[in-house]
Amino acid sequence: MQASEGTEKRPTLRLRVTSTAEWKVRSGHPWIFADSIKSQNRAGSMGELAVVYDKWDNFLAIGLFDPYSPLRVRVLHAGKPQTVNDAWWTERFTGALKVRESLFDASTTGYRCLHGENDGWPALVLDRFGETAVLKLYSAVWFARVEKIAALIREHLPVQRLVLRLSRNIQRVAQGEQMTDGAVLFGPAVEAPVLFHENGLVFEADVLKGQKTGFFLDQRENRMRVEGLARGRSVLNAFSFSGGFSVYAARGGATSVTDLDISAHALEAAERNFRRNSSSIGDCRHELVKADAFDWLRETRRRFGLVVLDPPSFAKKESERERAAEAYARLASLGIDHIEPGGVLVAASCSAHVTTDEFFGAVRAVARNSGRTVKELDTTGHPPDHPAKFAEAAYLKCIYLRF
Ligand code: SAH
Repeated sequence: MQASEGTEKRPTLRLRVTSTAEWKVRSGHPWIFADSIKSQNRAGSMGELAVVYDKWDNFLAIGLFDPYSPLRVRVLHAGKPQTVNDAWWTERFTGALKVRESLFDASTTGYRCLHGENDGWPALVLDRFGETAVLKLYSAVWFARVEKIAALIREHLPVQRLVLRLSRNIQRVAQGEQMTDGAVLFGPAVEAPVLFHENGLVFEADVLKGQKTGFFLDQRENRMRVEGLARGRSVLNAFSFSGGFSVYAARGGATSVTDLDISAHALEAAERNFRRNSSSIGDCRHELVKADAFDWLRETRRRFGLVVLDPPSFAKKESERERAAEAYARLASLGIDHIEPGGVLVAASCSAHVTTDEFFGAVRAVARNSGRTVKELDTTGHPPDHPAKFAEAAYLKCIYLRF
């Protein structure tokens, strides 16, 4: 028996899949699509454990079943048979936390504890922001387990509060389950901005309403690099959100930082984050610009010593990929126009549909075509608390160019 949860009387849900799907699962891919399921012993219900067998009837994998999604099974484990029970979940949870223990000291209390499939928690993210944890679900397969997960968090993470966030596509289904986006699952209500530390700086996270879980923890290492490049430079932080890159640049000795974002709400947070860190920042001018970044870059002639471009994903689905690559190129080109001689461009993409090669290729081509001398300083990918263990999971890339 591999699926031994609860007091179910029904026989274990057993599936057989195509040989291509078998091969994919064996090589570590965590998704089984409906059209690759060859047979199934009975109908499955939302979130129940499904055991997948290979063509010789040997155990192949165990995962979470979703009867309504084309992504029918999200693999929890593949390889030797394992029994998924409370002890198994505890070990999976503490195992992921252990990995993070060696990554951060007390100067960083904001980090990702569970990064979806890559930590064996498909379609689920858990971020810690100081005393507050945020559990974000991207699939209804988790609904029946939320209470158990909350108990694990309470026991093993040093937090006082847990906030539940739900991706838009599951919010309606969640209503029937008495779950709402932004619900506090334990701990006090959120009455003030949630503060946390990142490399000795203090930031707020909008855990109730902010994008994703309220702060972009995945850019931590790029922010550090920007700090190291900022001395004596004027900095443009385009798509600034709550100003993370700018605070680091200011600590690194930038003469001025300009946060450019289309959202007034984001800029207000950027202002607060900047002020909050005044003792680490020294003498750095801070400017806020509320505008569409493309329009503003087209209209202004100002030049900067360092330009950070970290836009939202331009490709939410595969069909948007080509247009997205063009948009990244257009944006990089506009950015380069605003870089003074000797200045640096930091261009990032968080779109999984645009590959690393496509993105770097597009930015490099635009840089070459600018007619300026350009030196590539660096490229970066995922930070260690956001591991990417299969192709579709690799969304983050960043390139550093000096002109
Ligand atoms: N660089 C940020 C994260 C950026 S998230 C960080 O390190 O935290 C993307 C941001 O782009 C959001 O704040 C969003 O409001 C903003 N945005 C989206 N479209 C925009 C546009 N056309 N012009 C300017 N900002 C935009």
